[in-house]
Amino acid sequence: MGKVYLTGAGPGDIDLLTIKALRVVKKADIIIYDRLANPDILAEAKDGCEFVYVGKEDSHHTLPQEEINEVIYQAALKYENVVRLKGGDSFVFGRGGEEGIYLFERNIKFEFIPGITSAIAVPEYAGIPVTHRGITASFRVVTGHESKNKDHTQIPWETFKTDDTIVFLMGLHRLDKIAKKLIEIGKPKEHPIAVISRGTRPDEKTVIGTLEDIYEKAKDLPTPALIVVGEVVKLHEQLSWFEK
Ligand code: SAH
Repeated sequence: MGKVYLTGAGPGDIDLLTIKALRVVKKADIIIYDRLANPDILAEAKDGCEFVYVGKEDSHHTLPQEEINEVIYQAALKYENVVRLKGGDSFVFGRGGEEGIYLFERNIKFEFIPGITSAIAVPEYAGIPVTHRGITASFRVVTGHESKNKDHTQIPWETFKTDDTIVFLMGLHRLDKIAKKLIEIGKPKEHPIAVISRGTRPDEKTVIGTLEDIYEKAKDLPTPALIVVGEVVKLHEQLSWFEK
């Protein structure tokens, strides 16, 4: 029986992979990966390593989570070193915990390897610090995806009245709704908001706007994209570096 390395692949730029992640990728017998994990990482694997794509984009899974769990489990029965590679960090809307529990219940050994989450690194590439002295001392990472399905966590809109920076993942398709909701709970229409598309990749693009105009400005940006709300967005003007 093998061991599973539940590994964060970072936000896109291959150089943001950790040394620990690279080490397990190099010795992997099989790599089970998502759409958001940079596929160039696979080139680092040894000859004969098997690759299994269980692609998922935002919340539209190609394979249901239960099947992904089973693919990982079966791989662990067959191979010594199994790498489960996913975008960013496995614990930030990555369902890494569910995969770990599935393995725990079947007595499979596993290890988590943290990855650099897009929630912080993508704003950083856009020159937007999630905290900044004198502006905000806290930030929140929230899913922009919300459904009527009771299994789905609902977004606690009323709690966004504070000055926390808010980072919405999986929210581009609901940008209009998100901006309207924030105005509804009392944020000014001029409140700064940014959408960062394809962060840390060569084609990264940041669009800056206000709650009132962001939808028109950013609705057609390609995914993956995240949304940052808060006064820190204004620092982009001085701190933007990557897109230059
Ligand atoms: N576990 C991942 C997040 C998974 S949820 C992490 O820690 O980064 C998927 C969402 O992450 C996408 O819908 C998007 O909002 C965001 N995301 C991931 N990579 C991104 C990138 N390179 N640029 C912009 N947003 C990204």
